Amino acid sequence: MAEFDVDLFVIGGGSGGVRAARIAANYGAKVMVAEEYRMGGTCVIRGCVPKKLFVIGSHVHQEIEDAAGFGWTIGQVSFDWATLVANKDKEIARLERAYTTNVEKSGARIVKTRAVLEDAHTLRLATGEKVTAKYILIATGGAPNHGPHVPGIEHVISSNEAFHLKELPKRIVIQGGGYIALEFAGIFAGFGSDVTVVYRGDNILRGFDEDVRKHVRAEMEKRGITIITGCTVAKVDKHGHDYTTHLSSGSSIASDQVMFAIGRHPNVKGLGLEAAGVAINPANGGIQVDGWSKTSVDNIYAVGDVTHRANLTPVAIREGHAFADTVFGKRPVQVDHATIPTAVFSQPEVGTVGLTEEEAQAQFSHVDIYKTDFRPIKATMSGRDTRVLMKLVVDASSDRVLGCHIVGDCAAEITQAVAIAVKMKATKADFDATIALHPTASEELVTMRTPTARHVRQAAE
Ligand code: FAD
Ligand code: NDP
Repeated sequence: MAEFDVDLFVIGGGSGGVRAARIAANYGAKVMVAEEYRMGGTCVIRGCVPKKLFVIGSHVHQEIEDAAGFGWTIGQVSFDWATLVANKDKEIARLERAYTTNVEKSGARIVKTRAVLEDAHTLRLATGEKVTAKYILIATGGAPNHGPHVPGIEHVISSNEAFHLKELPKRIVIQGGGYIALEFAGIFAGFGSDVTVVYRGDNILRGFDEDVRKHVRAEMEKRGITIITGCTVAKVDKHGHDYTTHLSSGSSIASDQVMFAIGRHPNVKGLGLEAAGVAINPANGGIQVDGWSKTSVDNIYAVGDVTHRANLTPVAIREGHAFADTVFGKRPVQVDHATIPTAVFSQPEVGTVGLTEEEAQAQFSHVDIYKTDFRPIKATMSGRDTRVLMKLVVDASSDRVLGCHIVGDCAAEITQAVAIAVKMKATKADFDATIALHPTASEELVTMRTPTARHVRQAAE
């Protein structure tokens, strides 16, 4: 009789867990996956995918406005939020089925229930069943923060609820200045809501390149989004269907919805980590792992948002795949977390890879900046008041391109391709040797010849 019921038990059927389960099963392992909500996890069910569908839908309004300059007369248009939500739900249900089928086709078994650790080799399912496993992978993801308690927090929605609102809010207040706040600000504004973003710091998108932060803010404000910085939400009052959001500055805002997008925390609560001896990383509250995604317990691994490294879907997938290759494929693989490209699907979009100007200055003695800020060709006829930002950060000593930052249409698509060059350690000379593709916005990346700034760190006396 086998020593354990399964070779691998995966807790969580999201991006990281599904990939690990499928690859391990392909290597011949007996695999069980527990999912307490819906197969596909955050990205598919209430993250990247529905978000991107909403972004695409909300952008249509701008396309319609821009069409007039190109000769189009578009009659009365109307938008139906309920149709959008229903069609999105249909697509998400299709994807959920596809995820389920693909896992089952690999030979892994799905149990639709919550699972927690009882010890280092035993799982307890919510059904009461116990399963023993040689290896355990924790891929339980994360959940929205509600922040420090403010009176009226029970009236506040997170991104989870934003995907299922019965009606499009006419006015919405969104607290936060990161990915989710800005993406939903663009979504709601695009569909016609009056949007106010409340951010605690001096400018949105902390951690991004300073020029990007300024550019996005200015562009969002041009599109009618109000951005209030330097304050927080202190209290939310509800009167019937209306809300009053009181700010720390003393002012207040009336709206139909209030949303918080103030970060996410790893799903570790009630998982039985202590019973199994799995340590938490005190620096970020995620499960502590080494370069192989191994926890403090030899046979237990953790991948994705629950480790709070880089909370992005492709990273969770890569970590899950590397785990399965290493443990079940006899192909030891460590994930390289350096130079991960990322995009904020705000409107306009941000695409970024590599170092910001500020980070490069801290790490390199000679840094050259190539920056351009221009009116895109479409705006010349649409008449829209908008500008695109493109920026390269270069190590002037080696000529290597350290970072690329774009704000504008298709920034994410462009950045994915540029990320290959940056990951390959391409030099500015390599960019310059590449013939431009005309007329595009991204041709600027290979035609900027003169640095717009040069930073030379003085040697210490
Ligand atoms: P998840 O996908 O969260 O999966 C974890 C799963 O575990 C969940 O299904 C959960 O129900 C289940 N689970 C938890 N505990 C248990 C338990 N005890 N038993 C059984 N099941 C359990 N990333 C991008 O790269 N691009 C984007 O555009 C993007 N947009 C996003 C938009 C939003 C609104 C949000 C919230 C996130 C977005 N992300 C995006 C981040 C991305 O969704 C996550 O990084 C990714 O889903 C992490 O995958 P994971 O496998 O770690 O966890
Ligand atoms: P982010 O970390 O991106 O942003 C959180 C924002 O909330 C920051 O502006 C932060 O301010 C602010 N904040 C944090 N705590 C408080 C508080 N107590 N009171 C007021 N403001 C606060 O988190 P999100 O929730 O937007 O998204 C979570 C993660 O999900 C992202 O970091 C990303 O990894 C992933 N994601 C990725 C997407 C993509 O790839 N396009 C899209 C959506 C999510 P400060 O900066 O001052 O700390």
